[in-house]
Parts: sequence; structure tokens; C-alpha cells
Amino acid sequence: MIKTRFAPSPTGVLHLGGARTALFCWLYTKKMNGSFVLRIEDTDLERSTPESVDAILDGMSWLGLDYDEGPYYQTKRFDRYHEIIDQLIEQGDAYYCECSKQRLETLRESQMAAKQKPRYDGCCRDLGLQPDPAKTGVVRFRNPAQGVVSFNDHVKGRIDVNNSELDDLIIKRSDGSPTYNLSVVVDDMDMNISHVLRGDDHVNNTPRQINILRALKAPVPEYAHVPMILGDDGKRLSKRHGAVGVMEYFEAGYLPQALLNYLVRLGWSHGDQEIFSLQEMIDLFSLDALNRAPSSFNTEKLNWINQQYLMSLPLAEIVALVRQRLERLELDHDPDFDLATIVDLYRQRVVTINELVDSIGYCFQEFEHYDDKAANKVLKAPALEPLQRALRLFSGLESWDAASIHAVIETITEELEVGMGKVGQPLRVAVTGGSFSPPIDQTIELLGKPRSIARIQRAIDYISASSPS
Ligand code: GLU
Repeated sequence: MIKTRFAPSPTGVLHLGGARTALFCWLYTKKMNGSFVLRIEDTDLERSTPESVDAILDGMSWLGLDYDEGPYYQTKRFDRYHEIIDQLIEQGDAYYCECSKQRLETLRESQMAAKQKPRYDGCCRDLGLQPDPAKTGVVRFRNPAQGVVSFNDHVKGRIDVNNSELDDLIIKRSDGSPTYNLSVVVDDMDMNISHVLRGDDHVNNTPRQINILRALKAPVPEYAHVPMILGDDGKRLSKRHGAVGVMEYFEAGYLPQALLNYLVRLGWSHGDQEIFSLQEMIDLFSLDALNRAPSSFNTEKLNWINQQYLMSLPLAEIVALVRQRLERLELDHDPDFDLATIVDLYRQRVVTINELVDSIGYCFQEFEHYDDKAANKVLKAPALEPLQRALRLFSGLESWDAASIHAVIETITEELEVGMGKVGQPLRVAVTGGSFSPPIDQTIELLGKPRSIARIQRAIDYISASSPS
């Protein structure tokens, strides 16, 4: 059975690179009807925090990347790692090493001076030392001295590394803790991982891990090392480039479907297609179509994709998100208010849920002031007459619907012999506070009679106060 794992170290939030790796694992699992494992690699006790674990779990859950097994925590598996370390010593594939820090430092300096790659020289390899609790030794893996480690990476192609390039790596530190390469191997073996998809910052660890797996007579998984995500300046994506934590995108009002769609395209392609439903991603995904070259993060593209999703997702879904956001902002809104209509009117014109909520805020609360530009341009003396007529006619209007409202506006344009804009625009600024809204008759209908009339009166007062006749 196909089994993948996402194995983040909880030393920070779930960032875009991690989320993309998780998505690739998830897609591949779904496509192959396999199983997806979440493993929290929290052995670095100093840098791992429970807050980071929560941030990772929140990010995965917001994106809908559900897992079949886990989360497993490496800190809960120390006994197992020690069991394997002992087994490796027993079978002669690992040995106790007492080289002092001092000796290793001198060795390193002399190798550097001779322009050699710094590596352990195997000093304790054949000494047959027994672990001595009085001393602070380490355990090293006895890497094969000869031969070549080869694997076919799904992204990078064939990789061959001479064992002579690899030294005897530490698998147990002097404080007794297992190292990353050891715990990963034990977990990948115990969890029957068939495919390791991870960032290519780990590609140099792979030949070492393969050697340990072989020593344990464990099957070697397939590997796919995905290139990193770069910022738009070609440097590795980091905080400097803006938001990198997945939940920051939630906060900013992006849709999880859009972020997933954006992430899948950052590193995988299927012809020129840009928009993929989740099902399409699953159906079309293949490891061999992963890009070899690093991809650059581009906010404009993400915005474009988010907008596509805002426009095309079922209206009820968008309305639910808007409602959630209104509740979070504690914006009191009448449960009978026709949110769907206004959301539908606006969703074509905004990029995020937050922008959508900002744009329709005037429906739920009094705006504090008019948009400066709109007020300076529109709320001036010539608007007074149309607004006064509107106030009078609207007050007497029996049926409050867009068609009747439209008829009133038309009457005023005829009476005053002016164009639509001369009436519609002052009304728009009066009732919304800004110069941007869906068709004005629909907007006024939605706002309801009392609110619309009060706001028209407010605009009249504003103009009278600022341009006394
Ligand atoms: N815990 C490692 C990391 O967060 C990943 C290890 C792996 O995927 O093998 O970089």
C-alpha cells in the first residue's frame, strides 16, 4: 500500500513550503488510495513548542489536509529509537565513539587547511569500545566504506553517491538523544512509509538514511525531493517577503481552496491549466510532473486565484464565511438581512473575504465618515436638490423594491433634466459612504427604508454644513 508522511518539526508556524509538501503527500495518497501519516518531529526539545504543534494542526485542518494516521510525536518514541540503536551496535553496524570535542575540532581544522571536506576519520570505528556511563561518548553509524548509494528521485532523477563521501554519522548524541537521521529512519520503517516527499534541503540526508535502512534490512522508500519556494527576488521565501504562515492567509481572508490551488501550481503543472478543483488535482496529480526548478511566490497570482474561487464557489459557502467573519468582528447584523444578495453583488469585485466584509460593512453599521475622495467630489451643493427630492419621494414610497426605487431616481433625473449619474452618485455616497457599490437601486433596497432615509438626511446635513448657501 502507498503510504506517505508529512513530518514537520514544530519550531514555528506551518509555512507555505511545508503546506505545499503536505498537499503533495495528501494528493498522492488520495490518488493512490493510500494512507497519509502526520508525524511531528519534536526531538529538538529547545526549539519545539506546543504552540507550533497547534499552529501546524490548525493550518492542516484549515486547508482540509486530513490524515489517516497520527499525529505521532517523536518524543514519545525514544524507547524505540534506543532499541534500534542498541540493535545496530549489537549487529556491528554502529559503534560507541569517545572522540573528544577537542579532537574533532582539530581534525576539522586540519582537513579544512588541506582543502578537504570535513568528515569524521573513523578513529573509534574499530576500537570495539563499550559504552561507558562515566564518559560522554556518542554512537555512530558504521557507514559502508565502499560502494555507491543510488536512488531514483521522482523530481531530481537518478542520484548516485559514493560511500567514500559519507562519514560515520552520529545517531545518538552524548546526552543520549537520538539524532534526526536515526529517528526518521526508524519511523519511516516502523510506519511502513512507501513514499517520502519532502523539501530538497533533505536530499543530502537521503543516502545516509538509505544506508541505515539497509543495515536494518528495511525496505527503502521511494523519494521525491521538491525544490524550495522562492520569494519574488529569487531568494528563499521568508518572513521578509510578507506572510509565510498558512494561518496568516486565513486571517487575511483567503479561501483554503484557493491557497491549495495556488500551492499545487507552485511546483506542479498540468499543461497550462491554472484552476483545479480538489478532485481534479487528485485525478491529475503525478509525482513525475513535479517541477524540477524552484518556483517563485507571487501574491498577484494568488490574488487572482482567490478571486476566481470567490466568484465561482457556491454562494452559500461564501455567505457562511462572511457571516463567520462578521461574528468574529462582532458586527451586529440582523439575521433577516439578505446577506446573500449583497455578497453576490460584491464578490465579483473583491479579492478576499476581508475585503468583501469591509465593502459591505455599511450594511450593518453606520460608517463613521465618508470616503474623502467621494465626499469631496460628490457631496457638494449640486447634489443637494437631487438628494432632497429623493428624500421626499422615498419617504412616501409604499413598496420598497429596486424597481420602485429605480422609478423614483428616474423621475428625479427627468424633473431636474440631469443624467443618471447626477442623482445616482450622490445617493450612493450618501447611503454607502463611498463611491463604489452595486447598482444603486439594489443597494438601497437592501439597506431598507429607515436606514436609507436616515443616511440621505445625513448627507443633506453634511452638504448644508460644509457649503452654506
Ligand atoms: N522534520 C523535517 C523538517 O521539518 C522533515 C524531515 C523529513 O521529511 O524527512 O524539515
